[in-house]
Amino acid sequence: MRSGTSWHNWAGNQAARPAQVVSPRDVEELTELVKAAERDGLRVKAIGSGHSFTAIGITDGVQVRLGGLSRLLSADRATGLVTVEAGMPMHRLNTLLEDEGLALSNLGDIDRQTVAGAISTGTHGTGRALGGLATQVRQLQLVLGDGSVVTCSATERPKLFSAARVGLGALGIVTTVTLQAEPAFALQAQERPMRLPVVLAELDELVAGNEHFEFFWFPHTDRTLTKRNNRLPGGAPTRPLGRRRAFIEDELFSNGVFGLSCRMGRLVPALIPRINAFTGRSLGRRTYADVSHKVFTSPRRVRFVEMEYGVPAQAVQEAITGIARVIEQQRLRVSFPVEVRFTAADDIPLSTASDRASAYLAIHMFKGQPYETYFREVEAVMKGLDGRPHWGKMHSLDASSLRSTYKRFDEFLAVRDRVDPLGRFANPYLDRVLGGVERRQG
Ligand SMILES: Cc1cc2nc3c(=O)[nH]c(=O)nc-3n(C[C@H](O)[C@H](O)[C@H](O)COP(=O)(O)OP(=O)(O)OC[C@H]3O[C@@H](n4cnc5c(N)ncnc54)[C@H](O)[C@@H]3O)c2cc1C
Repeated sequence: MRSGTSWHNWAGNQAARPAQVVSPRDVEELTELVKAAERDGLRVKAIGSGHSFTAIGITDGVQVRLGGLSRLLSADRATGLVTVEAGMPMHRLNTLLEDEGLALSNLGDIDRQTVAGAISTGTHGTGRALGGLATQVRQLQLVLGDGSVVTCSATERPKLFSAARVGLGALGIVTTVTLQAEPAFALQAQERPMRLPVVLAELDELVAGNEHFEFFWFPHTDRTLTKRNNRLPGGAPTRPLGRRRAFIEDELFSNGVFGLSCRMGRLVPALIPRINAFTGRSLGRRTYADVSHKVFTSPRRVRFVEMEYGVPAQAVQEAITGIARVIEQQRLRVSFPVEVRFTAADDIPLSTASDRASAYLAIHMFKGQPYETYFREVEAVMKGLDGRPHWGKMHSLDASSLRSTYKRFDEFLAVRDRVDPLGRFANPYLDRVLGGVERRQG
């Protein structure tokens, strides 16, 4: 146990100095730590890889690091069911699954998160027929506020299971996760620059006609980079980017040169529209095919802050034109592209796609550049479209506005009341977005 250790997240916009930092080696040690925290009157918070931009993982009590609970426990090739400890990083899981001839059906943009951290905030990728990572969860084991250990699934404690798939770290510490994987598959990726008006005019077909469609729009221009990922038939040969080409395109241009142009833009914001126009013109087509996780995810070395809202899928055009209007009216200078993705509806109470097919609009600002006006004004547009903020990305909503967009908000709170009535896993962020536990104690 360490005390007084400071912690900050990946983006560097959230910091904490927990009273204690603990790294349990097994579930028994974890339950003892939670019981000790109860005796000492300390709050407890598990932390993953710190890739959330919000204060969702902050604690001044006991910070639980789950690096010691990160093993693959079982992988059944016949059923595709895979059980891992909660601290397993996604990149290690992807490689282990590949070794077993398995893969997850969909992934987000990066693979640095832990499994529990990723599902807890509703991490998602893109794909009209697919939900976020949490929809692939089949069973969870959690340590609750009183130190008890419970498992839950669709048939065992179904209400807890339903809520805890996107649990915001509010219901307990997840110790193991069982995920539904499928036989490994390869994806063909097609990246093509397109003009924004053409993308918007053809959006329905682009989304419906591809298993995973997304696009990046470069503000101050009408240029986009579209990405279509579709499965290759089983046994078809893959055509990965050569190591040299991957280095030049992904590392040098997507990270190195992009980072340099962001730094130039931060120094001289007036240059940003010209830099974006140049970047937009330089975008090329490329097609490659590789095992799925290598196509879904890529490294992100340029640091930024981010806000992402899910809106009803049919509101996507209005959302994009709203963002463009904000940038123009507020005379903002934005070097980062706006990322637009799509997912199917799901049945998870606090998933951003709960009960509705969704489009996601992610806006970013290079680290160190002012983001407040951009995020505030775009948030107003998204709220007007019944938008729901990603739990791990910056936003300012509180419990009252969130309750109005989540039909099953009170169902989640009822579960929380049952499993954590004293708010052992609460923190100021959860008090804001869910309401404080004091309110319900008396
Ligand atoms: C560069 C970058 C790219 C990203 N790309 C995407 C993307 O493509 N799609 C997307 O949806 N999101 C994306 N995100 C957001 C990211 O996936 C989420 O914020 C995710 O929650 C981060 O996982 P983590 O392991 O870092 O968790 P943390 O940020 O460390 O923690 C997140 C929450 O999970 C809780 N938690 C962690 N472990 C446990 C546990 N064992 N039990 C209970 N609660 C726990 C924490 O308490 C906290 O509340 C991105 C973020 C970054 C920085």
